[in-house]
Amino acid sequence: MTHVVVVGAGQAGASLVAKLRAVGFKGEITLIGAEKVPPYQRPPLSKAYLLGEMAEERLYLRPAEFYADQNITLRLDTRVSGIDRASQKVTLSDGEVLPYDELALTTGAHPRTLPAAIGGMLDGVFAVRDLADADAMAPAFQPGKRVLIIGGGYIGLEAAAVASKLGLEVTLVEMAERILQRVAAPETSDYFRALHQGHGVDIREGVGLDRLLGDNHVTGARLTDGTELDIDFAVVGVGIAPATILAESAGVAVANGITTDTHGRTSDPHIWAAGDCASSLFHGQTIRLESVGNAIDQAEVVAANIAGGDQPYVPKPWFWSDQYDCKLQIAGLNLGYTAVYLRKGDAPGVQSHWYYKDNTLLAVDAMNDPRNYMIGKRLIEAGRSPDPALITDPATDMKALLKP
Ligand code: FAD
Repeated sequence: MTHVVVVGAGQAGASLVAKLRAVGFKGEITLIGAEKVPPYQRPPLSKAYLLGEMAEERLYLRPAEFYADQNITLRLDTRVSGIDRASQKVTLSDGEVLPYDELALTTGAHPRTLPAAIGGMLDGVFAVRDLADADAMAPAFQPGKRVLIIGGGYIGLEAAAVASKLGLEVTLVEMAERILQRVAAPETSDYFRALHQGHGVDIREGVGLDRLLGDNHVTGARLTDGTELDIDFAVVGVGIAPATILAESAGVAVANGITTDTHGRTSDPHIWAAGDCASSLFHGQTIRLESVGNAIDQAEVVAANIAGGDQPYVPKPWFWSDQYDCKLQIAGLNLGYTAVYLRKGDAPGVQSHWYYKDNTLLAVDAMNDPRNYMIGKRLIEAGRSPDPALITDPATDMKALLKP
């Protein structure tokens, strides 16, 4: 009987095994995860869960019985430490060796950490990647405490929003010229800067961390402009690196993620990859997406192909972020944009930013504007690009843009 082994019991791994059964795969399935808990959703870790508004069980993607009911062997608290491609076997952390016919790598990513030499290992310095991180950090979120958030990407901003809502004194430093610089236009950065400042967050851009201060526990921070801050704890949100070490040591091709072809196969025909750890092709470019939507869609395509299908993976990027009462929804990928057009909504804070590359619509950032998010998403996926003058004109009936 064919044995599919899936390494990494996160969003992509869980989607992959469920889809394998859904498409009628009858062989053996083993899902191996390094964490102690069944596969869960990560987005709430920097949102509702960190706020204390969501129970742990609600994070789980499927009830624990699901895996047994579907005849899927779920091995938690177990790390895969090596792949022998020649004999098609993986070695587990406890020394057990497991044969596979097809192997899928859904190992996710590691948060980038601060070097110990600048205080990265002090107590009270937290990362935000997994449930254990969130559980370690949550008790520090007490009203009146002073937190330094390092990094003004989505994770850092979400942590800042939670801290501010819980009554902490929040300072956020971003080394780049502006928050969200890597992922969004200045217009979107401006929107979120104003939102945070309106909630009392001290946002410092163009300023990096020189070092964290303290003997065992962090007590302060020195910034690159020489400023010193007294703090009670720090949250590090400086990006992630794909978890590629297993693939690399086995000689599977890696370049900013495990390289996959249009069908999700790696350079080894019996090894597949999906989710944050994998790079894929998008309009002729190699990209790596870090999102729930990508993890699910790519994993499902891989499952269908392992089960004998012939399905290409066509990324349809989408993402969201929740900060205070703002829901940001992003459709498309703004890589290489040349202009951004603003569409104002009919209430304060409701707006969308439309990214074009010359005359081609690439992406939309929609703030509290689900209608225009959906319209933008459908236009992008259909490869249609309305005249930008229509986007900015308040008189335009946006829904009419969808008509053929
Ligand atoms: P993961 O979910 O990270 O799963 C990988 C799993 O593999 C981990 O459990 C890991 O322990 C395990 N693993 C790694 N190596 C091994 C090994 N050798 N052996 C066994 N197991 C191993 N995306 C959005 O679209 N919207 C959001 O709002 C959003 N918010 C986020 C907030 C936070 C705090 C975080 C951390 C992420 C957020 N994301 C969001 C991103 C999204 O959660 C990820 O893109 C998604 O989880 C990727 O799924 P994955 O399966 O590739 O990786």
